[in-house]
Amino acid sequence: MAKIGFIGLGNMGGHMANNLLKAGHSLKAFDLSKEALDRAVANGAVAMATAAEAGKDVDVIVSMLPAGKHVRGVYGDAGGVFDNASPGTLIIDSSTIDVQSARDVIAMAAKKGLDMVDAPVSGGVGGAQAGTLTFMVGGSQEAFNKAKPILDLMGKKIFYAGGPGNGQAAKIANNMLLGISMIGTSEAFNLAMALGLDAKTFFDISSVSSGQCWSMTSYCPAPGPLPTSPANNDYKPGFAVDMMLKDLRLAKEAAESVGANTPLGHQSEELYGKLSADGHGGLDFSGIIKMLAGRL
Ligand code: NAD
Repeated sequence: MAKIGFIGLGNMGGHMANNLLKAGHSLKAFDLSKEALDRAVANGAVAMATAAEAGKDVDVIVSMLPAGKHVRGVYGDAGGVFDNASPGTLIIDSSTIDVQSARDVIAMAAKKGLDMVDAPVSGGVGGAQAGTLTFMVGGSQEAFNKAKPILDLMGKKIFYAGGPGNGQAAKIANNMLLGISMIGTSEAFNLAMALGLDAKTFFDISSVSSGQCWSMTSYCPAPGPLPTSPANNDYKPGFAVDMMLKDLRLAKEAAESVGANTPLGHQSEELYGKLSADGHGGLDFSGIIKMLAGRL
């Protein structure tokens, strides 16, 4: 059984850590939030006073933090994890962060003799709890091979995406497409309904025609056709507008850094930005259908 340090035990990390504990691994945990830490301790983790302590004398470190600046700070600050981890420790950062931070931090880790991968996830809190997340992993093939057995305990599909930062690149490109397709699906429903179709009729036709996509068949933004979608639950998340906006901003920043032309990605970021600025950041991201219909 491995000795694991876990940093960031929020909505996602708390469940992921729990799945590692359930598999019999020992866990040193750290979070700035006492509440999050207490929950992990109740599940069998040992609370540490700092991130650096959680990363000391362990075989593997897993982190699940909000953004790039937190990851840079926790690992790279003087007296942080990199200054305290033993050479040979495997580090898995599953936070969704900007590609450049992921690449910089992995390069710093290599200088310290530490194997590190970026391994962002998709699947949300439900997937974290059930241990069915999808992991998109960037780093050396060797580091990926070492990380795979640990990731298997928290996820169902584990993809090797290539070198450092490629996991983040896959994640934000995918989520940019999701943002765009949700807006497209919403526009199509709004148009069909304005022209006199009901949502169910349009769904029955388009979900088996060329307009079919995940936003329609698994997450339909119009209430009615798909009972499990947030549209039938007052657009409670699910996947909140502010989370989608975070990923669209990361995609925009990454596109600018390599000169990639992503006009629909930019427009999606503006539309989700407006929805958030209007006070609806906590709404499920499929709620954009209401804004597009002029009902928000
Ligand atoms: P969260 O805010 O619930 O959890 C983040 C945790 O990190 C918090 O408990 C916070 O106290 C802790 N933290 C912040 N700074 C810290 C520091 N310096 N040291 C130690 N702990 C620190 O967020 P979440 O929903 O668990 O998301 C975590 C990451 O996963 C984010 O990058 C997010 O984009 C990504 N993600 C989330 C979802 C989702 O559905 N929630 C889905 C896919 C990816």
